[in-house]
Amino acid sequence: MLIATDFIILRNIKANGLASHPLERRPVKVATLIDEGAFNKTGHGLLHNKTVFLEDEVHDWNWRDGQFRYYTRIATEADVVIAFAVDDVVFCTQCGAKRLKAVASCEQCAETGNGE
Ligand SMILES: [Zn+2]
Repeated sequence: MLIATDFIILRNIKANGLASHPLERRPVKVATLIDEGAFNKTGHGLLHNKTVFLEDEVHDWNWRDGQFRYYTRIATEADVVIAFAVDDVVFCTQCGAKRLKAVASCEQCAETGNGE
């Protein structure tokens, strides 16, 4: 699953493409926050339809010249996770330890199986 490692949460953002928000850096992922408790509990997991609703660049948001615009169709006003960096992680099926998806085997038990 995707974990946001560098992010901010913009609060009470109106989903209106006419309103822009100053944002210095281009986001790599933008997601409407659905369940902040679960988002925090999963270590900032971007789980589509569980912790967040992942939004599409161009269709739901854009960023240009330091201005962010958000115009999702699923809400009129929402808290929005703006991620500048994400890790793709998996959990060991043997011991449950978390590791980067790119790492082939578990550091804890050397098992190669993984779950999302
Ligand atoms: Zn393991």
